[in-house]
Amino acid sequence: MTDWDRDIRRRLHDLDGQGLLRERRPVSNAAFPVLEREGASLINFSSNNYLGLAGNTKIVQAEGKGAYSGAGATASRLITGTDEGTKMLEKELATYKGTEAALIFGSGYAANLGVLSALLGREDAVFSDRLNHASIVDGIRLSGARCFRYRHGDADHLETLLQKADRQGFRKKLIVTDTVFSMDGDIAPLADLLELKERFGAALMVDDAHGGGVFGPEGKGVVHQLGLGDRVDLHMGTFSKAFGVYGAYVAGRENWIRYLVNTSRSWIYTTALPPAVTAGIAASLQLVRQGEDLRQSLREKSRWFRNELQRAGFDTGPSASQIIPVMVGENRASLRFSQRLADRGVLAVGIRPPTVPKGTARIRFSLMANHRCEDLEQALEAITETGRELGVIA
Ligand code: PMP
Repeated sequence: MTDWDRDIRRRLHDLDGQGLLRERRPVSNAAFPVLEREGASLINFSSNNYLGLAGNTKIVQAEGKGAYSGAGATASRLITGTDEGTKMLEKELATYKGTEAALIFGSGYAANLGVLSALLGREDAVFSDRLNHASIVDGIRLSGARCFRYRHGDADHLETLLQKADRQGFRKKLIVTDTVFSMDGDIAPLADLLELKERFGAALMVDDAHGGGVFGPEGKGVVHQLGLGDRVDLHMGTFSKAFGVYGAYVAGRENWIRYLVNTSRSWIYTTALPPAVTAGIAASLQLVRQGEDLRQSLREKSRWFRNELQRAGFDTGPSASQIIPVMVGENRASLRFSQRLADRGVLAVGIRPPTVPKGTARIRFSLMANHRCEDLEQALEAITETGRELGVIA
C-alpha cells in the first residue's frame, strides 16, 4: 500500500465518520415518475425532469433520427463540430430568449465554468449569492476575480458589498445568481438585483437551470415571467432538467457571445454535443414552448404538495417552486429519513454538506408534471409516517 492509498483510505474513513460518504446506486426508468431501484418500485422525487420530457417518445425518436448523422460530433465546435442543426438551434434559442445571440455548451457545469472564467479577470469584482450552484463557485475560482459573496437572497447585503467594491476601485462588476435555487426551491430577488446592477453599473448573469421550461410564457424562464428579460446581460440555462435532455446554453448580446466563442475554454477545448443530443434538444424546445398544460399541472401539484407537507408540520424552508425541501438538520438523520422513505416506496434522497450548509441536511422533493395524484397522496402518507417515526414532526 502506497502513501497515497493510505491517505485516500483515511479520507474515506473521515467522510464515513461524518455521515458524508456517497455511493452510486443504480436505478432504471429514471425518466419516469415511478422508477426501480434494487428491485423496488419507487415514486420518483429525485429527478430534475420536471415536465416529464426525458421520457417523451417524440424527443427520443428525434434523438434516434439525429444519430444517423453520426454517433458523435467527432470534433470541437471550432473544428468540425458545428453543423447546420446546431447553428439553427442557437438562432432559435436567441429568438426564444429575446437576445441577439446564443451559444450551446456541453453542459450547465461547463457553461458556468467557461463563461465566468472567460468574462472575469483578476481586476474584476464578482458578486455571488452564497447558495449559488457549485459550477458558478468553480467558474469564479478559476477566473481569479475578487469574489464578494452576499447573504442568500439578501439585496441589502449585496448593496453594501457593491459599495465596498466601489471604494476599493473595482471598475467592472458582475452579479451572478441562480434564479431558482436548487436545494431550497426559492427564487432570487431579481427585480432588486437588476435595480442594484443598474445603479452600480454592474452586469447581471442569471443561471436559470431550474426555472427554464417551468416558469414564464413558453417556459422562457423566471426573468421572462417577471417581464425582466431584456435587462439581464447574460442568461444561462440547461437542457438537462425541464427539457429532459442534456447540454446547456448561454444567451446575450452578439459581442458577448462572439467573445465567448473566442475565449471560453470549456466551450472551445471539448467535443461538441453528439448530433442525437442536439436533435433531442431541438425537439424538446418545441414541446417546452407548447407545454403550458404541463407547466400548469406542475404548478398545481407543487403548490398542493408543499401545502400538505406544511400542514403535516414539516419545515419546507423558503420553497416557492417545484423543488421542495423537508428540513431535517443532521446528516445521518437525512440518510435514515431517505432510507425509511424508500422502504415505504418513495425515492427522495438526502442532501448533505457540502451541497448545502452544515447543519441543514434535508430531503429534497422534486415534483414532476406527470406525477399521478394517487402517487402523491401515497407519498405524503409515507413522508408523514416517517417524519413522526424519526421525530421530525410531532
Ligand atoms: N446550475 C445549476 C443551478 C444547477 O442546479 C446545475 C445542475 N445541478 C447546473 C448548473 C449544472 O448543469 P448540468 O447538470 O447541465 O451540468
